[in-house]
Amino acid sequence: MAAQQDDPSPRRPWVEIDLGALCDNYALIADAAPGASVAAVVKCDGYGLGASEISRTLAERSRASEFFVAYAREGVELREALRDVATDASIYVFNGPHEETIEAFDTAALTPVLNSLQQARLWARSTSNRPAAVHIDTGMNRLGAPISEAEAIAKIAGGRVELVMSHLACSDDPAHAMNETQRERFEAVAALFPNARRSLSASAGALMDPRYHYDLVRLGVALYGASPFNHDDERLKSVASLRAPVIQTRRLRAGETVGYGATFAAPRDMETATIAYGYGDGAPRSASNSADFDIAGARAPIVGRVSMDLITIDVSAIETPVRVGDVATFFGAQPRIFDAAAACGTIPYELLTGLGARVDRRYL
Ligand SMILES: *Cc1c(COP(=O)(O)O)cnc(C)c1O
Repeated sequence: MAAQQDDPSPRRPWVEIDLGALCDNYALIADAAPGASVAAVVKCDGYGLGASEISRTLAERSRASEFFVAYAREGVELREALRDVATDASIYVFNGPHEETIEAFDTAALTPVLNSLQQARLWARSTSNRPAAVHIDTGMNRLGAPISEAEAIAKIAGGRVELVMSHLACSDDPAHAMNETQRERFEAVAALFPNARRSLSASAGALMDPRYHYDLVRLGVALYGASPFNHDDERLKSVASLRAPVIQTRRLRAGETVGYGATFAAPRDMETATIAYGYGDGAPRSASNSADFDIAGARAPIVGRVSMDLITIDVSAIETPVRVGDVATFFGAQPRIFDAAAACGTIPYELLTGLGARVDRRYL
């Protein structure tokens, strides 16, 4: 925040991150899955919101002690960030170890997720006697060892495997038959690792029935206040609010057009405002002529194309005249991030992780 005051160009977009709401979402899941530990997934810089700040807050206020990242490098940075607040935290690395990264697992005390027989061999050969997790693919066909390799992995590395996990392909729809198919396969294969804790669910599964909870849930997007389902979930509190200042206003005559390609023509005389936020900051270009901002509690539709640094909105319906310096909200308490994403033909995950480097992170 202090750096903010020195910023010579404060008229740029920012994201407000409500750390209290983050902890409330963590608590909501802990209540929804009372038999399971709740691990925080903070890959991709904490879904764009700052892995270090997010993790420190969860460790201090919510007593979170288990974290997941995708890369060893993210794990090394996280270990450093947690140094004085959660020395014993477990940091799991989804993508597992490779020849080039194996040393980092030792020096930063990271727990690899073994995704193949090959990674299990690599880990078994390493001098480390640290524990590992294993990811068995039960039908997603993305990452993880095939079921056919599970027995061999158990033989090679089983003694050090403290967590066996899998990942659901269709949990955005709890009624999807694939969920139960994967759960049954998971039950069978997890039996090969009798001493390991079990984990099948990410955010969506954690909010599904208790049979999906097992010993640990891997909580990502729900922490950040976004629904993991194919519909919004009002129980989740908004954490991230994307705000951008108006930097110019205009009065358009009927028939005049807006932006590149002149894709919007004013159907009548209207008022527009140009805001400092564009695809260079992570706004989807698919928001062009389709998503809305909120300004002073009213909807202001995007008119014309989203460009790199700028978006133009129709503020004709806003009662008090919109002025330079006024603030528009792309997502937050209103519009909800789920709706903003839907209006752009995407999901909240992409809006969050797409937040650009020019977007200032402000923690509340
Ligand atoms: C990203 C990820 C998660 C977190 O998923 P959310 O839907 O954001 O909760 C959990 N498990 C795996 C394997 C992942 O890749």
